[in-house]
Amino acid sequence: MSATVCGGRGSATVASYRCRVVEHYWVNQRYKYIRLESDAPIATMTWPGQFYQLKCPNTVDEEPFLLRPMSVYGAGPDDGTIEFLYNVTGVGTRAMSTLLVDGEMDIVGPLGNTFTFAPSFRRILVVARGVGLATMAPLIRQAAAAGVAITAVMSARSRDDLMEKEFLRGAAAQVHTVFDADGTSSVEAVEVLLRELIDAQRPDAVYTCGSHRLLMLLQRILGDYPAVRGEVAMEQRMACGMGVCLSCVRLFDCDGDKRFLRVCREGPVFPIREVVGEVDFG
Ligand SMILES: Cc1cc2nc3c(=O)[nH]c(=O)nc-3n(C[C@H](O)[C@H](O)[C@H](O)COP(=O)(O)OP(=O)(O)OC[C@H]3O[C@@H](n4cnc5c(N)ncnc54)[C@H](O)[C@@H]3O)c2cc1C
Repeated sequence: MSATVCGGRGSATVASYRCRVVEHYWVNQRYKYIRLESDAPIATMTWPGQFYQLKCPNTVDEEPFLLRPMSVYGAGPDDGTIEFLYNVTGVGTRAMSTLLVDGEMDIVGPLGNTFTFAPSFRRILVVARGVGLATMAPLIRQAAAAGVAITAVMSARSRDDLMEKEFLRGAAAQVHTVFDADGTSSVEAVEVLLRELIDAQRPDAVYTCGSHRLLMLLQRILGDYPAVRGEVAMEQRMACGMGVCLSCVRLFDCDGDKRFLRVCREGPVFPIREVVGEVDFG
């Protein structure tokens, strides 16, 4: 079920699960953490990079229509436990933020593919920003459990937005932080840092999520390192999340063969080298 050339997908059983809210609290001014519990063993069938479609509740102020896609932030240790870390940004997530402990929430999944990862890897490099931290956290946990060395480049507006503790969750990693506030997150500065890290550490794979700018930068850099695998978890707006509505298609270049692929179904994890940044229909 890992990302393969031109998108790959396994055969996880997708279903709707009614969950109980076990824990729900603000992590900082914009992000909330929620832990859900199901009678079904959803943790055992969920892999890093996969996501669920969440049925956000109706409230006095909000009536979210579609389900909202959310990456799995954590799964387990109990078989029925699953966690999300989310940015309270609009109608759906504002409504979700009102859920009380012991309340209920319906989720549909697990959806999408997973990162390509091998326990035999020596080191991975993870480049994350914003909600990308939530998506990458399970990969960090998977790598740490396998004894694979981790280098993380975390990009944020300011130190207040960083969520380093929530990202690493106790895993040992060499962490490099860059911020908009002091200019260290500029493309030029991050390019120097990433090239230094890749040159010195030669990671087996580079993973990214949460920033189109970082994705395009990595695509350019990895052009000079053909032996290093690169994968991105894409966050395209989507409706059904199951490959039917086609609202999340994006153009990919699979060895010169241009194809529109569904981020929800063939992704959300894709090889960085195959992403087409700008579409020219001229
Ligand atoms: C596969 C996948 C995994 C995701 N994982 C997470 C996660 O772990 N944590 C998290 O906080 N968010 C995640 N997102 C983004 C999340 O789905 C949206 O923020 C959410 O749907 C917004 O719903 P809303 O009703 O609150 O906002 P809306 O009112 O729909 O929109 C509010 C703002 O959010 C932006 N937005 C809406 N949908 C998306 C989207 N799909 N991608 C990027 N921006 C969007 C809009 O452009 C707008 O600026 C993920 C998206 C995808 C596709």
